[in-house]
Amino acid sequence: MTDRCNLRCQYCMPEAEYVWLPRQDILDFEEVGRLVDRFVELGVDRARLTGGEPLVRRDLPRLVELLARKPGLRDLAMTTNGVLLEEQAAGLKAAGLHRVTVSLDTLRPERFEALTRSRALDRVVAGIEAAARAGFASVKIDSVVIRGVNEDELSALIEFGMRVGAEVRFIEYMDVGGATRWSPEKVVSRAEILGSVARRFGPVVPLPERTSAPAERFRLADGTVFGIISSVTAPFCGACDRSRLTADGIWYRCLYATRGTDLRRPLRAGASDAELRELIAEPWSQRADRGAEERLALRGRAPLATVDALRRDPHLEMHTRGG
Ligand code: SF4
Repeated sequence: MTDRCNLRCQYCMPEAEYVWLPRQDILDFEEVGRLVDRFVELGVDRARLTGGEPLVRRDLPRLVELLARKPGLRDLAMTTNGVLLEEQAAGLKAAGLHRVTVSLDTLRPERFEALTRSRALDRVVAGIEAAARAGFASVKIDSVVIRGVNEDELSALIEFGMRVGAEVRFIEYMDVGGATRWSPEKVVSRAEILGSVARRFGPVVPLPERTSAPAERFRLADGTVFGIISSVTAPFCGACDRSRLTADGIWYRCLYATRGTDLRRPLRAGASDAELRELIAEPWSQRADRGAEERLALRGRAPLATVDALRRDPHLEMHTRGG
């Protein structure tokens, strides 16, 4: 939806300055809708709105309404940092949004400020509570776990999720574009996360599921369910059926891909629906992306891109590509 964000999280936007996408390149809602139609015609039936922070995009409920009307889309979700969610939750639900995921890595105000360079923790919590009240099909909380930062808060986050009725998913700290402070030592692995949760809550039982969703899900003795997205230590590229369309219409078939397909230029140059479909179908039929698995095989693994490389090509940034 946008490459802009109202937070500056250490694992995504740690630098002081960024190169932004030119405003005239940002697709308007009708252009987004036209591309979504082509994806739906080719079999896509789920969409997720991300950013940057999608709620800083003006009139977002209007796009939600436009997408929710498409019969082929059976699932319409959004990932947000939650800062603007309290005032928008009811409107987004009314517009037809099905599910919401809120990123929240800590419940401690001073830690939140150090991690995000913002004092908006109360607003994020209020946003999650408002989403829970609004009646979405699900509200989830995504927490990136970073050693030395928040690995001591896993139980507190699960308990918070229980209180507000949100499923918590722990995400291994990934070396994606923008994570310029990443190092292997800071990754808290799936195994460590499971050990930590089991020490606090007792036996953790994996749920027998086979889906293309990135999270493995587990159940605690009291029935509480939580997830782990182990993209670093146990990647799941073989089951991945996702791709990402940036706010300026570049289509990436992997989180780690260095090149994407420009759909904006042909769209604005008058390409027919059939031509746009072909631009999508052909590369997808040849897709062999295995970004996270290839990263796992690397020795001396370091951040994906240097700050200079990110300035030269902001499309490498996670906040441009969408998480
Ligand atoms: S690294 Fe790429 S192929 Fe692997 S799961 Fe992520 S997006 Fe899919």
